[in-house]
Amino acid sequence: MNTLTSIGDRVDLNNGTRMPWLGLGVYQMTDEETRQACLLALDAGYRSLDTASVYKNEAGVGQALRETDIPREDLFVTTKLWNDDQRAGRTMSAFQESLDRLETDYVDLYLVHWPVRGHIVGTWKAMEDILASGRAKAIGVSNFLPHHLDELLVAAEVVPAINQVEFHPHLVQPNLLSYCKAQGIVVEAWSPLMQGQVASEKTIAALAEKYGKTPAQIVLRWDLQHGVVTIPKSTRKSRIEENAGIFDFELSEEDMGVLNDLDETRRLGPDPDTFAF
Ligand code: NAD
Repeated sequence: MNTLTSIGDRVDLNNGTRMPWLGLGVYQMTDEETRQACLLALDAGYRSLDTASVYKNEAGVGQALRETDIPREDLFVTTKLWNDDQRAGRTMSAFQESLDRLETDYVDLYLVHWPVRGHIVGTWKAMEDILASGRAKAIGVSNFLPHHLDELLVAAEVVPAINQVEFHPHLVQPNLLSYCKAQGIVVEAWSPLMQGQVASEKTIAALAEKYGKTPAQIVLRWDLQHGVVTIPKSTRKSRIEENAGIFDFELSEEDMGVLNDLDETRRLGPDPDTFAF
């Protein structure tokens, strides 16, 4: 049965916050591109926007929040704590600076961007304080492998609501998915479209043909049916709309398997165990 039938559908996070299954990613956009893309996405029915302090475009998201007629409580805004701020022990002040740039009193989700060695537990304690202050409705992590989560969970009072990781048909990480599921952590996909490479995969093209959908829609739907929140990026109106056209069809179990079998354990981005920034 197709349970995800509307762009308005949300997933229940482990603290009761409800997050849209689909959001717009705004990595590598200027403030102005971000403002425009966010407004296009909101017009297309998106309610979730994913930025980070290191993207240097939180102000662009803030402008879109100010310009849209959609009430703030209907929107879901995510931003992320950068690594240098963890190292400097300035989680709380970095968070306030993000709020100031976003021109909002709260974010819906605040994420630890990367598991910085030696700071996993200390940072998480500050994240828990932020959650307690009510200025983030949920807190989570990004790029955490199971052993990073093990280290965090031993000391945590709050289980992360989300783990945002690189996830696409060439990097499925079944062990990470089952680990997060067992802990009640929802997985969220970054680079879900393999930074555009989904368009040139033959197997994905064949499925697109079969379902009368585009390669991007096939892969984004595969995310949803994995229980994975997805945040494709685009600045173009046609693609922003295309990427939202994933709630009116369902992949068969067999075709889910066909996509799963494309796994090559191949990253496009940095490895969480060896990143050096
Ligand atoms: P993506 O996989 O979403 O690919 C985006 C690119 O794919 C676009 O720039 C465009 O060239 C192309 N594209 C978009 N729609 C398309 C379509 N319908 N058909 C064909 N091509 C299309 O890559 P991404 O931007 O790396 O990831 C998405 C979001 O994830 C980012 O914007 C950011 O918000 C987040 N992210 C987070 C991290 C992290 O460390 N937490 C890292 C990278 C990205």
